[in-house]
Amino acid sequence: MRELLRKNIAELTPYSCARNDFTGEAEVYLDANENWQDFVGKVDANRYPDPLSVQVRKAIEEKLGLPFANTLLGNGSDELIDNLLRCFCNPGKDSILIMPPTYGAYRVFADINDVKVETVPLTPDFAIDVPALEAFLSHEKANRSGEGRLKLLFICSPNNPSGNAFSLEEIERVCSLFDGITVVDEAYYDFSSKPSAVTLLGRFPNLVVLRTLSKCWALASARVGIAVASEEIIAVFRSMKYPYNIGSPSQRLALKALKEADAVQQGLAQIKEERTRLGTELAKLACVHRVFPSDANFFLVRVTDANALYHSLADRGIIVRNRSKEMHCQSCLRITVGSKTENDKLLAALAAYKEC
Ligand SMILES: *Cc1c(COP(=O)(O)O)cnc(C)c1O
Repeated sequence: MRELLRKNIAELTPYSCARNDFTGEAEVYLDANENWQDFVGKVDANRYPDPLSVQVRKAIEEKLGLPFANTLLGNGSDELIDNLLRCFCNPGKDSILIMPPTYGAYRVFADINDVKVETVPLTPDFAIDVPALEAFLSHEKANRSGEGRLKLLFICSPNNPSGNAFSLEEIERVCSLFDGITVVDEAYYDFSSKPSAVTLLGRFPNLVVLRTLSKCWALASARVGIAVASEEIIAVFRSMKYPYNIGSPSQRLALKALKEADAVQQGLAQIKEERTRLGTELAKLACVHRVFPSDANFFLVRVTDANALYHSLADRGIIVRNRSKEMHCQSCLRITVGSKTENDKLLAALAAYKEC
């Protein structure tokens, strides 16, 4: 792993914040230039948050089974994606590999960091094209000049926008083919019945798994993402992240949600039930050509005319995502599984649409 790091990151002296210098309990804190007054009536709003989110990570270990020593929280998993790029990719030299159609953030953050993006598209049925990937990786390896190389490979599973999860065997295959850092983004893991790539961490030390509280845990506004990786990689992340990247209100919300794990499980069961119903109902409609199978809380749906249908739904106050310009997603909409009421409104609007 260390030889994959950018030199400046490997040699970094981390910023040492007050909350890192002293971690015990004291009566008087005069170490961080905080204001002792509190104008908003929230406990601790005037104090800097725990930089290591210890309480939240303990709850994550307890409720999600992700070992405390192997986790680090980000301001959403988006921050963690950016951190990966900043840790490993030399701007203007190194590259990442993505498999479109996939989550747009990988490319945007790579562009921001001036990191080149290589692509090996998924097959039209949204499976990993293993032979193409193998060919690409061996060609890349054989042609390294010393001026940069492929550092990160992003697998999104379940994949956004197609909705399918990849099997553990496929992910394992990619990990063993690639000599850089394989990142498995499991933002929608909770909705899937396929096993997590976390179980591969022991065998593949260069694997990083991303989770988030934004989807199943219904905390999108708290901005809490989770990186799961070897202690070595976590230590690097810790050295370069913004010291106070998760505010106390967000840490409190995360703790609260994790304490409500039973309710969240019930909510998850409801979403899965609605997913089955919505999938069945969508497939009955004349304007719907294909409902791609979903391991997530959304469907990719191929329709007669995605642009026209998108606007017709929007006119009725229903916003879905038009994905028809993405690879293999011709005339496709991505539709989130909402509440029963929301899904009924969607189905009613579709039934009223002339082509359906
Ligand atoms: C929604 C989503 C995320 C979550 O991002 P956060 O920053 O944690 O809210 C990450 N990856 C994918 C593929 C997503 O769809």
